[in-house]
Amino acid sequence: MLLILRAYDEEGRIERALEPEWLVTEVLFDLCHQRMKGGGLVSKILVGGVAAHVNRRLEIRGEDLRMSAKKVGVTLKSLGLRTEKLGRLGRGLQFGSILRREIHEIALQMGVDRRTITPLTALESGHGGAPCSLCEQLGLTGGLEFVEILKLRRDRHAPPPEPPSPPTPSEDNEDREAALPTSG
Ligand SMILES: [Zn+2]
Repeated sequence: MLLILRAYDEEGRIERALEPEWLVTEVLFDLCHQRMKGGGLVSKILVGGVAAHVNRRLEIRGEDLRMSAKKVGVTLKSLGLRTEKLGRLGRGLQFGSILRREIHEIALQMGVDRRTITPLTALESGHGGAPCSLCEQLGLTGGLEFVEILKLRRDRHAPPPEPPSPPTPSEDNEDREAALPTSG
């Protein structure tokens, strides 16, 4: 029974996955949990930057559709998210606590959760990344376990962690494509 429900859910997800609102929500929700090189959370992003993220995902999924920054701006408005002027560069979003909560609430409504934004490799291990109190509160963890990376390195004989290497686009591609169920 549970499996059947899950299958239906996946189908619905794929249909929704091309709606502008869904695409933008997915990217914003992902950005809420992304850490930058220094370890801090993403603090702001231009509307054009959101568009670039959306289009990269579409490209990885093999979709021809692309979203312009203007379309992203309209979509943000329809989601009830207000952009503000970020210096001279243009309009964008400032990731404060209010915006983070708003994005989490929109994600809840849209059916986006941590499982949606977690790469397949992490899904297989059941490890979904860093914990987030908003995700816990709103039930957006998708059943994944969230632990700080440091806690995983308990073994004192383990070799020191390798310096992080930037993910190659091809690697990402394979992961994402493998995540798409085949039709028929
Ligand atoms: Zn969260």
